[in-house]
Amino acid sequence: MKSPNHPRLELDVEENMVNIARRKLLALTATAAPLLLFAIGSPARAAETAACFDLDAMPATQKSMRRSLGFKIESPDPQKHCGTCTFFTAAAGDCGKCALLNGGAVAAVNVCDSWAAKS
Ligand code: SF4
Repeated sequence: MKSPNHPRLELDVEENMVNIARRKLLALTATAAPLLLFAIGSPARAAETAACFDLDAMPATQKSMRRSLGFKIESPDPQKHCGTCTFFTAAAGDCGKCALLNGGAVAAVNVCDSWAAKS
């Protein structure tokens, strides 16, 4: 796609190709984001989470809120997880509800960027 007679045209074509590649990457990221929520974490934590809720069956608003809060199925810090968070209300087993997720179901092992210690 090079045109030695028109340097500006050559530059425009290259810029367009970069923009198209960027848009494809953004679209792929948006599509894969819900899957990534579950991909980050051990199989054991994924099983504990699956016992509490099914992300695939959640409304888009719940998925969006979880994305915006940086929701993860497993905390890298054993002291910081939903079970120790002030916004968590325990339910059956290791499951509960999160006030910041409008009462959305979470597992005690999950975490997000808005974690705050219970007082
Ligand atoms: S605010 Fe975050 S860490 Fe706290 S219960 Fe909700 S999802 Fe879990």
